[in-house]
Amino acid sequence: MTRYIFITGGVVSSLGKGLLSASLGALLQARGYSVRLRKLDPYLNVDPGTMSPYQHGEVYVTDDGAETDLDLGHYERFTGVSSRQSDNITSGRIYQQIISKERRGDYLGGTVQVIPHVTDAIKEFALAEQDGIDFMLCEIGGTAGDIEAAPFMEAIRQLSIDLGKGRSIFVHLTLVPYLAAAGELKTKPTQHSVRDLRSIGIQPDILVCRSEHPIPDSERRKMSLYCNVSETAVIPALDASSIYSVPVSYHNEGLDIEVLKAFGLAHSQGPDLSRWEDIMDRIENPEGEVTIAVVGKYTGLKDAYKSLNEAIVHGGIANRVKVNVEWIEAEVFEKADAIAQLENVDAILVPGGFGKRGTEGKIAAARFARERNVPYFGICLGMQMATVEAARNMAGVKEAGSSEFEAQTNPVVGLITEWVRADGSVETRTEETDLGGTMRLGAYEAVLKEGSKVADIYGKTQISERHRHRYEVNVGFVEKLEKAGVVFSGMSPDGELPEIVELPDHPWFIGVQFHPELKSKPFAPHPLFASFIKAAVTHSRLV
Ligand code: GLN
Repeated sequence: MTRYIFITGGVVSSLGKGLLSASLGALLQARGYSVRLRKLDPYLNVDPGTMSPYQHGEVYVTDDGAETDLDLGHYERFTGVSSRQSDNITSGRIYQQIISKERRGDYLGGTVQVIPHVTDAIKEFALAEQDGIDFMLCEIGGTAGDIEAAPFMEAIRQLSIDLGKGRSIFVHLTLVPYLAAAGELKTKPTQHSVRDLRSIGIQPDILVCRSEHPIPDSERRKMSLYCNVSETAVIPALDASSIYSVPVSYHNEGLDIEVLKAFGLAHSQGPDLSRWEDIMDRIENPEGEVTIAVVGKYTGLKDAYKSLNEAIVHGGIANRVKVNVEWIEAEVFEKADAIAQLENVDAILVPGGFGKRGTEGKIAAARFARERNVPYFGICLGMQMATVEAARNMAGVKEAGSSEFEAQTNPVVGLITEWVRADGSVETRTEETDLGGTMRLGAYEAVLKEGSKVADIYGKTQISERHRHRYEVNVGFVEKLEKAGVVFSGMSPDGELPEIVELPDHPWFIGVQFHPELKSKPFAPHPLFASFIKAAVTHSRLV
């Protein structure tokens, strides 16, 4: 029997609902339960794939190729459970389905309405693919009281009735602000937010209260009284030094016990939190520090590189070092002499990205790393630009470029439709076939070269990693580049798509066409990030 936990937010956005959901999932796992997490997003985009990273943060890609909300990244990082397409829904997707059904005439002349058609579709999504797990955690995006969240709130209200007694609970996250002038914490916004929820028939079982200051018992009692929630179920959530200390903090405040109590489940035995305690110990007691430069394009908003940032932290956890990250706009390296900025860093990472802006700066950064023996990690666009740099400056292909930015006669990086093979024949896949002209999304396998650095790092020669890109390094250049000293140490199983390039004569220079950051976990740091940070540590000791 799958039990449902609905997680809503009130007062303001950005309180950390995703982190609360992920942490609660981790705590239930630590008590031996199986969990899945889902995100229900009220916005009208069909998926976040087309939203600017500046608007909505990173697009998180799942194994099955879904472009989803970045909260799914938190869920995976905290629980290790791989998300699927069926774990993220938006109003846009729901309306798209309903309207196409309506156009097909599936409603047999009936009037199509928010209740029941939209709410039924939301319920269907929440109930799908339960796979016999113990707890399904459903996070509702937005804030209670938002116009666009209303159908979702109504759907989860109905669902709690449909599921029957004891099968679901509501957890509501609010803010308890501190008014410096009055020297007081204020509970009124929480009271109003819960009143909003109760007016639509939802009585929260647990209140989680974000606050910058400890919440005195008197205020907990007040919220318990006015919000109709037992006093022990008012859980304070103070700011944490690291997101990875949040599960243990929530446990210390009694969150997991309150959840089990609300379901009438036994809770006398505590959870096994050793995994989280080890991670916290490694973060709080580092044995050294390194500084790496991330040369990117959306450096103004950390959420745009959420998984990357976390994978870097995991690389630090693996090596027991603190990693300082200098986020640098790639464009700055297009000016003469600016590259000297990179002289003080221990390693350089060029992440994924789209569009021409800053690409010559990324190429300059790759060249600097190659020539100065600084560890270099190129991810997706960062791998493509390192390959273009190697083609220009190692293999003498002066005009090397990517057809993403301008027309190329023989692109080093191009659409699969444009490929010229090694034997001179032209790759003829069309826009309609699998990969041509569309994004390569989700998990693809790669075969690694025996004896290569990456085979050593992974400890195996067959891997599966997640992709999100439209362009590929042209297999027609493999021979020329290998002669110049680049090793293509990872290829697609059919040998047509370069997946990894490395420089054997360099301390650590690896470019990957996929996004390893999406699969890194604090308790299982991705081997490439662990190895990259180790190389940064070695470099820092050399200089
Ligand atoms: N813009 C490049 C492509 O589409 C790289 C994408 C990426 O870095 N995710 O192939």
